[in-house]
Amino acid sequence: MTRAWNFSAGPATLPLAVLQQAQKEFTDWHGIGASIVEVSHRGPAFSGVIADAEADLRELLAIPENYRVLFLQGGASLQFAQVPMNLANGKSSNHIVTGTWSQKAYKEAARLGAASLAASTEEGGQFKKLPAIERLQFDSNAAYVHLCTNETIHGIEVHEAYEARLHAALAAAAPGVPLVADMSSHILSRPLDVSRYGLIYAGAQKNVGPSGVTLVIVRNDLLDGTKNNVPTQLLYRNQADNGSMLNTPATFSIYMAGLVFKWLKGQGGLKAMAAANQEKARRLYEALDHSKGFYRACIEDANCRSIMNVPFNLPTPELEAQFVKESESAGFIGLKGHKSVGGIRASLYNAVPLEAVDALLRFMEKFAAAHRPEK
Ligand SMILES: *Cc1c(COP(=O)(O)O)cnc(C)c1O
Repeated sequence: MTRAWNFSAGPATLPLAVLQQAQKEFTDWHGIGASIVEVSHRGPAFSGVIADAEADLRELLAIPENYRVLFLQGGASLQFAQVPMNLANGKSSNHIVTGTWSQKAYKEAARLGAASLAASTEEGGQFKKLPAIERLQFDSNAAYVHLCTNETIHGIEVHEAYEARLHAALAAAAPGVPLVADMSSHILSRPLDVSRYGLIYAGAQKNVGPSGVTLVIVRNDLLDGTKNNVPTQLLYRNQADNGSMLNTPATFSIYMAGLVFKWLKGQGGLKAMAAANQEKARRLYEALDHSKGFYRACIEDANCRSIMNVPFNLPTPELEAQFVKESESAGFIGLKGHKSVGGIRASLYNAVPLEAVDALLRFMEKFAAAHRPEK
């Protein structure tokens, strides 16, 4: 078997044990004489799969009783529209813009209604940091404040300490205004206090499963904000009342996500994942910071460096292209940076083992030794 060291940003690597289990039970799922993707989503087999997936996700994230879990379609990108359609209700949304994804969410909300900026950290077309909490301009009349807690392209993450301070600052400046977060690329990478948020969404294909399903975790009271002018299919209330089965859900993706949730529980849950993820990121950032300038992490501030997506540069774009080429010959995939920013990006999701990072560090050391510009 040849499995590459896979650092893809998304769709991303999945745990080998999950792939093998899906393979083993694919043609005859638990003796039903068919695969799980060949039977009615309303039948007992799939009903059990989605119920288990929800129960396991609730357990992993300790989701409070007063939140609903939805398994939707359209990706995180559709949430950029679906959130304001359901939550704005004639009010504006207030946005913290820290990278490509939160900026897209802001632009989409502004297309559909009123949207304001609580902060933008864009400088000369670049994003390098999170805004200082005391600088945030919260709008106390807004329906919600939106942020992206892990900017997948720029490698900027909201860690626990910042998140706690942000939540407290918002509660003080704009009491009752809920936080809404795009957590697509780091949900399940660490324990989370769900109660800090009114709504959390995440496309699955980074840290959860295959593409096709989008998780939405929404507080009950936010299900009834808007009733008019929202298509039947896009109204959260309708999806909640119909068990995410207003129409046929993404059965294969939900099944796979469910297997990943069981795998996470088997790994010791999110505390264990957080420790493993911290260690992978620590080793990589340390190697970057100690490379005598050959490799440069794009994000300098350790307080907001993503532990999931690590973008970095080499001395020249030519060396970066060479790095990608040689890495592929050496058994690595997915290291090319996003086309909008170039460079290199290593994504260190839950399913990336520590051995993959160590293999990458050995490759990087060899590459630097061979290509370091002469003094
Ligand atoms: C990948 C990604 C998206 C877009 O996800 P789609 O499912 O392709 O719509 C949005 N936000 C973040 C943070 C992402 O990483």
